[in-house]
Amino acid sequence: MLTSNKLLGTLRMSLKGDNMKLQELSYNEVSEAIAYDPETGVFIWKMDVSRNIKKGTAAGTIKSTRHRSTGQTKSYLYIRYKDREMVASRVAWMLHYGVWPDKSVMFEDGDTANLKISNLRLSNSTTRTIGPDGRVINRTTREKQRHYSLKRYYGMSLNDYAEMYRVQDGKCGICKLPETDKDRHGNVRVLAVDHCHKTGSVRELLCYSCNSMLGQAKDNEKVLLAGADYIRRHSASK
Ligand SMILES: [Zn+2]
Repeated sequence: MLTSNKLLGTLRMSLKGDNMKLQELSYNEVSEAIAYDPETGVFIWKMDVSRNIKKGTAAGTIKSTRHRSTGQTKSYLYIRYKDREMVASRVAWMLHYGVWPDKSVMFEDGDTANLKISNLRLSNSTTRTIGPDGRVINRTTREKQRHYSLKRYYGMSLNDYAEMYRVQDGKCGICKLPETDKDRHGNVRVLAVDHCHKTGSVRELLCYSCNSMLGQAKDNEKVLLAGADYIRRHSASK
């Protein structure tokens, strides 16, 4: 069976051809513009996007794609925002779980119009994409790599992470802000999984700064409280 992988590959290639930005939008960027109802599978704009696309209207356009190998024509909902054309099933996944799916999103009942979260599942196949030379490559995505390190270090799956991310609304468990720190490639980091160094159990997702702060203080409650007290003492005297 042909999956939407191929479709995505083609889409990526055409986007590349149009010289559009390829980096995927962040959870915050998508969630501030689009509301997704997992029960009904409906997407609604949360803001006026253009003169014609107003806040409160349904988001997305249905496009038909004919699969070359099967000859079947299938219709998919696409949502266009900030110069990206996003496959709605992927947007649904992202808005529900907090991260872009690391594999193709499949429709449980085969109906590509049924975008309820209960109808969406990840494909078992590896993530395939089409390289610049037109060849299909099995690609290890950043998310997949993250999946491995999450499992290795914390025994949690990407779905567990996504669930925590969703519960925390994509924000740090301490400062309550989204991550802004960038890694050496200039990409905004993902929230770190903070764990108790004594028991090894996972606590919450933290931003780089707050996670470093705990590390520097060696998780010592007295030092952290004394630090807060110190700041308060010196700001009150001004
Ligand atoms: Zn923080």
